Amino acid sequence: MAQILGGIGVTHSPSVAVAFDRGHTERPEWAPFFENTQPVKKWLTALAPDTLVIFYNDHLNRFPLSTYPTFAVGCDDTLRVADEGHGRRDLPDVPGDSELAWHICRHLVANEFDITMCQEMEVDHGVLSPLPLIADPPWQIKVIPIAINVILHPLPTARRCWRLGEAVARAIAAFPGERRVVIAGTGGLSHQLQGKDFGFVNPEWDNEFLDLIESDPEQLVALSHDTYMDRGGAESIEMIIWLAMRGALSGKLRRVQRVYWPRLTGLGMLALQPEATAA
Ligand code: FE
Repeated sequence: MAQILGGIGVTHSPSVAVAFDRGHTERPEWAPFFENTQPVKKWLTALAPDTLVIFYNDHLNRFPLSTYPTFAVGCDDTLRVADEGHGRRDLPDVPGDSELAWHICRHLVANEFDITMCQEMEVDHGVLSPLPLIADPPWQIKVIPIAINVILHPLPTARRCWRLGEAVARAIAAFPGERRVVIAGTGGLSHQLQGKDFGFVNPEWDNEFLDLIESDPEQLVALSHDTYMDRGGAESIEMIIWLAMRGALSGKLRRVQRVYWPRLTGLGMLALQPEATAA
């Protein structure tokens, strides 16, 4: 039997990766973020999941703009660390879970959710920036990356992301093998890294989003892309990726940890556990 043990929403800002790689996590500008994410890792160690399904977006490292999938599942058993233009980070490649990934693909397509299936997969900071907040290298946990297009219009709606999460949860529930699964959704929070509003961060909206995704996600599912971008800046549209994670969780949830630290981007982390699995 496969079970979803928890969900994590987390920012994937490249600055988090730089701070981690350079050992700056205890500096005053970073400590409030990194220190407060530690309870999430401790929780995960106790939970002992074996597979992490990560909804994220690729930043033109795996997919070129000429051929950009709306949804893509990584079915590779080795997820290579992408070179994002500065050389590969000094991180080991990430083990995939092809058996469960192909099961998810078959289930999604049979249920009218047509996805791109990737037999070769590289992952960029959408996966690797937050991964050290969740696990320690060399990675013991297997990862199934599910990329969501938030780069090239037309984008899937917030509701479509939610429904993708629901469909992935149904696929996991139908898996005949044993798995302890945690779902993550990465991106955001508020940020804009171009134009006259470069550096725009909206802590009020970020905190409202963190409230609502926990307690009333339907409000977020109903919002348009324009509303997200007006409130959080152009690139904050990544926040709809968290809705895929949240759509995969059901029942009453316990909040494990909530972190918010506004810098050049709104950095956030939220960990939730279905009460049914908390026993
Ligand atoms: Fe991003």
